[in-house]
Amino acid sequence: MTPEEVARFRGMLQLQRTGTLAAIAELGSSLVELRAARSDGTADDEHDPDGSTLSGEWSRVSGLDADFAGTLASIDRALGRIDAGGYGRCLRCDGPIGAARLEARPAAELCIECARAAEERR
Ligand SMILES: [Zn+2]
Repeated sequence: MTPEEVARFRGMLQLQRTGTLAAIAELGSSLVELRAARSDGTADDEHDPDGSTLSGEWSRVSGLDADFAGTLASIDRALGRIDAGGYGRCLRCDGPIGAARLEARPAAELCIECARAAEERR
């Protein structure tokens, strides 16, 4: 991979990182609002019909939060590999991940074959 390509992927990753951080910040404020709605006593899960909706919303938002946190961690690991010089190599077989795959998922850690194998084992 040429330094120009690496620089371009770094730019893509940094852009994704900014977007993910913004999404996490937005989710954070919804979690704060939900927590406030839950603790003000009006949203009793047992008696208030809105209570269950609130719980559903809560688990949806915290699930998204965990997803974004995972995305952010993989972006940070990819940026770390760029600095260390191992970017674009599969973590399992050490083969090239492939420019097309990195184009679609700059934070990809596995080549398509290893990713498929990992998917099947699930
Ligand atoms: Zn591989």
